[in-house]
Amino acid sequence: MQFLKTLFSKPYSAKLSITSSNGFHLRPAAKFVTEAKKFRSHIKAKKGLEEVDAKSVNTLLSLNLEKGDAFTLIAQGKDAQVAIQTLATYFKTLMHEDKAIEPVTTQVHTYQGKTVEVQSISLGVAIAPVYTYRKKEIYTATNITLQKATTLAQEELLALSKKESNNEGIYLAQKELLTSLTSNFDTLEMFEKRIEEQSHALIGGKHESKRADYQDILQRVKQQLGYTYVFDFPTEPFILIADDLLPSTISQLKQTAIEGVILRETSSTSHTAILLKAEGITSVICSTHFELHKRPIILDASCGVIVLQPSKDDVSQAALSQKKHEEEEERAYLKRFEPARTRKGKEVIVLANVSSIESAKEAKNEGAQGIGLLRTEFLFTKTQPSLEEQTQAYTDIFALFETITVRTLDVGGDKNLPYIDLKHEANPFLGIRGVRLFKSHSNIMDEQLHAIFKAANNKSIKVMFPMVSTVEEFNHAKSFAQEVAKKYHIDISNIDFGIMIEVPSVLFLLKEFNTVVDFYSIGTNDLTQYLFATERTHPTLEVNPLSPLIFNVIQSIIKNATKPVSLCGELASNISAIPQLLPLKVHTLSVSSKHIGKVKEEIRKY
Ligand code: PEP
Ligand code: MG
Repeated sequence: MQFLKTLFSKPYSAKLSITSSNGFHLRPAAKFVTEAKKFRSHIKAKKGLEEVDAKSVNTLLSLNLEKGDAFTLIAQGKDAQVAIQTLATYFKTLMHEDKAIEPVTTQVHTYQGKTVEVQSISLGVAIAPVYTYRKKEIYTATNITLQKATTLAQEELLALSKKESNNEGIYLAQKELLTSLTSNFDTLEMFEKRIEEQSHALIGGKHESKRADYQDILQRVKQQLGYTYVFDFPTEPFILIADDLLPSTISQLKQTAIEGVILRETSSTSHTAILLKAEGITSVICSTHFELHKRPIILDASCGVIVLQPSKDDVSQAALSQKKHEEEEERAYLKRFEPARTRKGKEVIVLANVSSIESAKEAKNEGAQGIGLLRTEFLFTKTQPSLEEQTQAYTDIFALFETITVRTLDVGGDKNLPYIDLKHEANPFLGIRGVRLFKSHSNIMDEQLHAIFKAANNKSIKVMFPMVSTVEEFNHAKSFAQEVAKKYHIDISNIDFGIMIEVPSVLFLLKEFNTVVDFYSIGTNDLTQYLFATERTHPTLEVNPLSPLIFNVIQSIIKNATKPVSLCGELASNISAIPQLLPLKVHTLSVSSKHIGKVKEEIRKY
């Protein structure tokens, strides 16, 4: 009966586009499925003629959705309408949060021996013989059933996600994938066959690289059934070569004499690559086949090459760069809490871009001198937070640092939040977003400012408005904030008000802004998008992040601004941009936590 009711109920649908350059891959798909399962309706995803269950990670992945693709989400059942609304917005949030893997910048090499070009995953230099990866499978019979083994493997993945919180998403995604691939009636053979078939249905480099996750969950289940895997790695230093490695193998590599890793068939977005980078193991992707000898080779990921028959000079040169690289990494890490002074003695303040309580704690640990951009959208991703929840979160974050810049809610364009009802617009990037919410959603802004002011509790902090394009917008937002303070009897004399410079009109209004704002922060992400009329999430268009025009614009801002200026767009985290930013007198940078040590060390070179 229930089934018939569902069958004849009105379907609701939404067309969703893949905006992340990583495609709709395992981690966001797993999060999406977890959310979809909360609804009772039947939920399907349709691409062309293919229609699959949207509550199963495996079937969702089988659509091979790449950047630029679109699919229709269809829900049928009692809660179908809410399901579509919630999931459509959640999907957009997932796409926004799924940042592209930053390309690794390599240097030019001067080796004499025969070289093969490679794609670097994790920088560093290794000199050692190559060892071809092999593993032995040994089976000791147990009376554990496949169902029990699956449950144990799921529990293991859950425990790992808690233990290794930096890679939590990978383990939770594998757990969800495992759930979607097992059924109560399986034998191990059936399960293995399904893994084989389903993983080979993944098409396209980035999707195919997730095949290792399918093999990884199979291995975990088999381990519970009594299978063990022996690797037999050499005891002398070695460079490991393999088609691909399972993500779970990476943590074991650190305990061996490994110097580097060459993978033939993975992509820089695979979980194996992400974990290699996280472990700091020099590693590259090399699809060119070459003959293996017992002699040492040079794997120079910093220059993006393998030197097959290195000359004596090549080896000395590589040994020198290896030493330099290791010393630099070590120095950057050890000196992460020290100020960054240029050779001429000018201090550049390095703050952090933060978007949650955890990331604020990480920033502290990585040597941030404060928070240069607190993105507050994280509080609004699922439901509207209460005043108390917001106040608590801001209080916890403000307590960590003396220097804090908190940005008011920046919704719209690429930042969609599920329950904030932004009317559909033909050009959302040019519509209601950022500071414009002060007029369209004044209750939300009132509550947010109330929470920020309560949490500040007389501490001197900076409040920054996003997407400001006119002086009137700033004045309105500031008066609004003052009214909020007055209404709740909070003294805000310690609070400075400023703007993000991310809309080009501001470049021509600096003289006027100088008379009203307390500070500026340049947001190169949006500023670049609007300067070049190129949407930051566009599937095919890209702007050179190091375009001379961007540096000219920054120079002109610094020249014309009479209030303090910082830089918080991604450009500030780009090591290659530092030598060009310093002569422009950019003296405050706000960067993502993992770049703090290296950015500081780079500054010290000039
Ligand atoms: C920017 O636009 O450069 C910026 C820092 O803000 P966001 O990336 O959050 O839009
Ligand atoms: Mg922005």
